[in-house]
Amino acid sequence: MTDRFGGSTRRSIIGGNWKMHTTLAGAADLAADLVRRLGETMAVEVVLCPPFPNLETVQRVIEVSTLQLGAQDVFWEDAGAFTGEVSAPMVQAVGCDWVIVGHSERRRLLGESSEMVNRKLTAALRHGLRVILAIGESGDERYAGQTEQVLRSQLHESLIGVRPEKADDLVIAYEPVWAIGTGETASPDQARQAHAFVRQVLAGLYGDEIAQAIRIQYGGSVTAANAAELLAQPGIDGALVGGASLKAEDFAAIVQAAGLNR
Ligand code: PEP
Repeated sequence: MTDRFGGSTRRSIIGGNWKMHTTLAGAADLAADLVRRLGETMAVEVVLCPPFPNLETVQRVIEVSTLQLGAQDVFWEDAGAFTGEVSAPMVQAVGCDWVIVGHSERRRLLGESSEMVNRKLTAALRHGLRVILAIGESGDERYAGQTEQVLRSQLHESLIGVRPEKADDLVIAYEPVWAIGTGETASPDQARQAHAFVRQVLAGLYGDEIAQAIRIQYGGSVTAANAAELLAQPGIDGALVGGASLKAEDFAAIVQAAGLNR
């Protein structure tokens, strides 16, 4: 099948989710190292997602490069009495083009439901941010044979009200929860099958042509050593990287592996 551009030309996208790891100085150093290694990368879209307090500093470092900035989360209201929350206009004002929503650490540790994810996602899109929507099954759900059911309902519930013309601003990150931060990666077969299923659900929502154009990243213990094999699978259009995104050399190797597969 071909995408809307007449070929399988989805541009790979690699995200670095720095989680709650970097200090201000550490974030600036890591960003500067990545600009040196990847700052002119065109074949692959590269999005750095530092913690909120480091966004502005990282933006100043990467603004001379092709690297882009993303927030790790966003709240659904624009402003108001919402202690501790950060809105889409706020992250945009410090240079974010992207935001991650629905990360499993937020769903699991902070009780975020797909309904909350949907509110965040629609707020982000309304403000012109591009969204990486993270979905994925837990280990128990996989072993109980519920993977497809979980992915389908997370997609349906998170994408309520998202119109087809917004699909260009959407990336799906398939992140099996059992593979995040565990060192256990989905096998290339498992990942390929899940991605094909996600694209099938997207086709049901938006039609084939749009589903073929939406990029689907794999996330879960991606490393410099396993990236090439995962990224070579059909239907895997990049990676969302946690641990390995904190080491410039490893992250750069993952981006290079993505470039080789295009
Ligand atoms: C993530 O946080 O999205 C992630 C995939 O983490 P890790 O690469 O460390 O498994």
